[in-house]
Amino acid sequence: MSDAKHIAIAGATGAVGEELLNCLAQRKFPIAKLTLLASARSAGKTLPFGGEEIEVQELTMNSFEGVDIALFSAGGGISKQFAPAAVAAGAVVVDNSSAFRMDEGVPLVVPEVNGEDAQNHDGIIANPNCTTIITLMGLNPLHRAFGGVTKIIASSYQAVSGSGASGILELDAQLSAIAHGEPIPDRQVYLHQIANNVIPHVDVFTENGYTKEEMKMFHEGRKILHVPDLKASVTCVRVPVHRSHAVAVTAVFENEPDVDQARKAISAAPGVEVRDEPFADPPIYPTPLDTTNGDDCLVGRIRRDLVLDNALTFWVVGDQVRKGAALNAVQIAELL
Ligand code: NAP
Repeated sequence: MSDAKHIAIAGATGAVGEELLNCLAQRKFPIAKLTLLASARSAGKTLPFGGEEIEVQELTMNSFEGVDIALFSAGGGISKQFAPAAVAAGAVVVDNSSAFRMDEGVPLVVPEVNGEDAQNHDGIIANPNCTTIITLMGLNPLHRAFGGVTKIIASSYQAVSGSGASGILELDAQLSAIAHGEPIPDRQVYLHQIANNVIPHVDVFTENGYTKEEMKMFHEGRKILHVPDLKASVTCVRVPVHRSHAVAVTAVFENEPDVDQARKAISAAPGVEVRDEPFADPPIYPTPLDTTNGDDCLVGRIRRDLVLDNALTFWVVGDQVRKGAALNAVQIAELL
């Protein structure tokens, strides 16, 4: 293979697909050919890339001939159906869905945390859940600094673009109706009105009362950090924000943590920055607007936890379409 690759994007017209195109262009990924794939609905549309308009093709079992790297962002069902065909055609799949994340032999990779795992694949590498990636970007430097993390308690504040392009449309339609004194339009995405509201329900409920999204942090955190007995209790909440997830995290470590050392450890880590000056005027901490369209995750509100021993509490924010999905996938492709 030459350095320049034939890249395919399955789900090119979606929220993550659009950002994959941005990341590939901005990072000047060496591309010999770009194949854009989506449903039959989008076949024939064009998307701009590198000054050209590229036609979108319908995703089929025969879409992957000659493809070196296939970036999948069309949902778990599509990944399950088509990723094996891409691998059989000789491509390496980087999958944004949850279809293969916990499978034996499928590395689950955040390049800044466990990039070395990407080399041990059988054709499929999984991108972790977006909330998990953002949490671990803040947590991993502390995990390294304080002898290993043993427990996490976290609450997420998740943007509507996490539900795809349709989440943004639903929030905006409701906000517009409210602004014009009109009835709220029929809901398609969320069970409850999301405008002027927060909904403590992301993904489906599992038997233990936690949602699948909440259990992803539990299972995926163990796999990525290589801490098989890590415990995590997570509450995921959808908030009326367009973009960037925020997570309030309390983490317990093997060793006694120190706030100044924590700030230094995070500052020294790649892909994450500290914005934490509670006594500045005005106080400094990151918000979702600060990370939107940005690469780095931002951490603030770092403090000793007042309830648990050996624990820190902090706030981490990141653009979940970018670092939580597209950027992370392109970084994995770069590792290949
Ligand atoms: P989205 O905006 O709804 O886009 C879905 C994409 O999948 C579109 O390109 C769509 O094509 C394509 N698609 C749907 N049905 C298809 C079919 N039968 N055959 C081929 N393509 C089909 O969703 P998204 O937010 O980008 O999410 C995509 C994946 O990334 C999901 O697995 C999601 O869980 C994951 N993810 C999303 C985020 C996020 O923040 N949004 C973060 C991390 C991971 P058409 O336009 O033709 O329908």
